Amino acid sequence: MTNSPPIRPGATLGIVGGGQLGRMIALAAANYGLKVHVYAPDADSPAFDVAATHTVAPYDDAAALAAFADACDVVTYEFENIPHATAAILAEHATVRPSAHALLTTQDRLVEKDFVNSLGVPTAPYRAVDTAEELEAALADLGRPAILKTRRFGYDGKGQRTVREGDDAAAILAGFDGAPCILEGFVPFSREISVVAARGPDGAFAAYEPCENEHRDHILAFTRVPASGLDPTTAAAAESIARTIAEALDYVGVLAVELFEVEAEAGPARLVVNEIAPRVHNSGHWTTEGALTSQFAQTVRAVCGWPLGSTARTGGMQVEMENLIGEAADRWATLLAEAGAHLHLYGKAEARPGRKMGHVTRLISPG
Ligand code: AMP
Repeated sequence: MTNSPPIRPGATLGIVGGGQLGRMIALAAANYGLKVHVYAPDADSPAFDVAATHTVAPYDDAAALAAFADACDVVTYEFENIPHATAAILAEHATVRPSAHALLTTQDRLVEKDFVNSLGVPTAPYRAVDTAEELEAALADLGRPAILKTRRFGYDGKGQRTVREGDDAAAILAGFDGAPCILEGFVPFSREISVVAARGPDGAFAAYEPCENEHRDHILAFTRVPASGLDPTTAAAAESIARTIAEALDYVGVLAVELFEVEAEAGPARLVVNEIAPRVHNSGHWTTEGALTSQFAQTVRAVCGWPLGSTARTGGMQVEMENLIGEAADRWATLLAEAGAHLHLYGKAEARPGRKMGHVTRLISPG
């Protein structure tokens, strides 16, 4: 099935991946009267708790994938590291949004950076690196510090190491066990912002305003909206970058574009794309209470071919999202008692260090 039938309330939305993002998409879909079928390999997946149906099977189980896709009217996913063969099987049996092409482009840092640069949008300078010789040559070109990253499967600072003066670069590369890598030149950014945006099958586009992201130990700790003091020209440029990327991918769904803001000596700051997430994103969690349409509801709208919702902030409030990482989620009772704090817990049994267990959203009156 390649043409999508009309999606109506009562139809079945398939979600590949069973983490917290899948869980929050499932909750939003249920609100629209859709049935949700989640496919994930782990029997403990947090999204299973809130889905009408689930399949526990590995991502290379062709028969299980086909049966899952046949049972769905449209299929989306909550993470980008889906093997291409998996996406191809799903696409033979159901409409998959965003497309397998969008996945392929964004799951490999080298392919993604080539693509972004081909649009005339800047990224960090980079070189493909597979061998110690290529790494030496790349370091000679880009200088130190530079950041060595695996091309695939990196997240929350995993699969990357900074190469500083005096570091044994070859040993750092060897630590990646032969995984294909890229070396990125160091971007002297003043802060990190992101744009979460949606595009429908008819080309309709809606972006949330850029938000400001604060990381601790390579993991997102806080998102704040609006990004304080963000120049309107820079904000418009950020949204325009997201739109250019979405249109070039003929994208359907929600995507996030992470950007570095680099101060210029004069005039507006320069924006450099760090990475694209072809899905809802942690820096968009604020939208559940902070915007008129949450990024999860927006995903459902986009992949079903429904009108996109308003991305305006709720009541013009300032919004802060705080991630609850590891044992921070033990503060749940205190957070419940905090006036105006909206608590979300993901239902994960074990609070390992660095694991995202939940988040809190706070709406703050400006001034
Ligand atoms: P990533 O996994 O690519 O999102 O990188 C994780 C974090 O490392 C980013 O949020 C930045 O704080 C930092 N980082 C990544 N790439 C660069 C770069 N080229 N220059 C400076 N900092 C970087």
